[in-house]
Amino acid sequence: MTETNKNIFPVHHEIMSREEKEIFLNQRARVIWLTGLSGAGKTTLAKHLEKELVSRGYLAQILDGDNIRTGINNNLGFSPEDRYENIRRIAEISKLFLHCGIITINCFISPTEEIREMARHIIGAEDFIEIYVNAPLNICEERDVKGLYSRARRGEIKEFTGITAPFEVPQKHDLEVRTDLGPVEESVKQILELALPRIALE
Ligand code: ADP
Repeated sequence: MTETNKNIFPVHHEIMSREEKEIFLNQRARVIWLTGLSGAGKTTLAKHLEKELVSRGYLAQILDGDNIRTGINNNLGFSPEDRYENIRRIAEISKLFLHCGIITINCFISPTEEIREMARHIIGAEDFIEIYVNAPLNICEERDVKGLYSRARRGEIKEFTGITAPFEVPQKHDLEVRTDLGPVEESVKQILELALPRIALE
């Protein structure tokens, strides 16, 4: 703890507690954390999931790599240290949403076990639903949604996950969806089957 931190007293006695907010919203707040290679389908699935949740009366917010990196994390790059700090801040933001009673759907490559473990630790295991969005590298590269793989192959992007930076296969995920083997709807259905019972208020 730094000298300055010693003088900071976080407020834990909000006017409305998390539980009261959850009752107000008629939902349990959770973090649905989508991890996987670029182009694996995280953003696509997140948009469908948000729609499905809203249609059931649940309030959810997508947190996406691109909007976070152009906003709050615009000072961070893709070195291992910056990737760690990127996810640390995102996990803290997700925690703020949790305390507002809001579900977040997080789309971040989050490439290493250490990074995912850190996020789980900050958020709390009970609220953290880890989904491994899996499509083989060659399929993601074929999709090349943003043209990033071809740029990485040409050497124009340094430290690109799957090409010149590692992606460690998740070991502790709650669910793996193979987006190369079925339609979007199938993956969405699998995620909802897992997440809805954890969102519903008893
Ligand atoms: P990411 O957010 O992981 O980088 P995107 O969602 O931006 O990936 O891109 C995934 C691409 O793969 C989209 O063009 C999407 O239409 C396509 N796709 C094909 N099948 C699926 C599926 N089953 N689930 C998700 N995306 C799929």
